[in-house]
Amino acid sequence: MRLLNPGPVTLTDTVRGALASEDLCHREPEFADLQQTVRSGLRAVYGLSDEWAPVLVSGSGTAAVEAMVSSLPGADARLLIVENGVYGERMARMAEVHGIAHERMTLAWGQAIDTAAVAEWLQAGAFSHLAVVHHETTTGRLNDLEALGRACTARGVAMLVDAVSSFGAEAIDFDALPIAAVAATANKCLHGAPGLAFVIARRTALAHGQPRTLYLDLAEYCAKQDARSTPFTPAIPAFYALAAALDEHAAEGGWFARRNRYRRLAAQVADGLAALGITAVLDADQSSCVLRAYRLPAALDYATLHDHLKQTGFVIYAGQGGLADSIFRISTMGALDEADIQRLIASVACLVHN
Ligand SMILES: *Cc1c(COP(=O)(O)O)cnc(C)c1O
Repeated sequence: MRLLNPGPVTLTDTVRGALASEDLCHREPEFADLQQTVRSGLRAVYGLSDEWAPVLVSGSGTAAVEAMVSSLPGADARLLIVENGVYGERMARMAEVHGIAHERMTLAWGQAIDTAAVAEWLQAGAFSHLAVVHHETTTGRLNDLEALGRACTARGVAMLVDAVSSFGAEAIDFDALPIAAVAATANKCLHGAPGLAFVIARRTALAHGQPRTLYLDLAEYCAKQDARSTPFTPAIPAFYALAAALDEHAAEGGWFARRNRYRRLAAQVADGLAALGITAVLDADQSSCVLRAYRLPAALDYATLHDHLKQTGFVIYAGQGGLADSIFRISTMGALDEADIQRLIASVACLVHN
């Protein structure tokens, strides 16, 4: 089966094999070494200095985002949360649950963020942080971190970035942007297994945060991990898998090479579907390299398309919420190649022509 959903991804044989590595106790030096390997590997993805702390959290991507949103804002923090999809809305819900002062700038799903409007909000509202999703997986839109970063820098505002579906494949300029932290996961662009997520936080930001839960206290995770320890039982097989996946990521040429590979495969999908009369929701230059959303043809409902493709070995992804009946999504993350995409297009063609 080839997974074309936005994570978890189809694993390489090497990464799948790593999941079956030897049993470890998390209080033994072998685990401490493995944890250290993963933390260094994560820092290396964007060539980060010691100023940045990779903090591992066992759980899905949402665990890392919630650890970031709930533990980095201090007592006097005030967040502006920009929402143009499901994941921006989820960060707002986190702020609400944890009683963090915030305002929501709510846009239609898929709408481009107007940076000038964000700058005006920041100017008017005495915000400490801007929370934003880098790649809004709801629609495939890649939000413009650079432009938002300039608006934040000008006003001394720190950024909290959900980069769950972009880390490892899109540009993130950690040093030029006023980023406090970026949250991501093992099982999207890095091609690891589900169960392990992480936050890369500026150490100064960690020092000024405040925990609001016991389990997702980022500073506590960081302190323990710096001391070659861990607060709770970690998802050890997912650590092995991520270590192997990071090796492959680096060997293939890092985030830049991964972006090129995703772009190539995404263009192959888009061209193939266009020839069948199926069009993308957003222009290529508005989309991430990771995932594109397509309009369902009038004569085809999602379930029919999904079930037909599944029978031929592909899992695609539905639209969320109000988009469920009008779009479908195809991600090109994971162990996929040109031949897979050729088979995918042939399979869609079979359905469309019948
Ligand atoms: C996948 C994803 C998440 C987290 O989803 P989980 O199911 O918790 O892994 C968060 N934000 C974005 C942008 C995502 O694509």
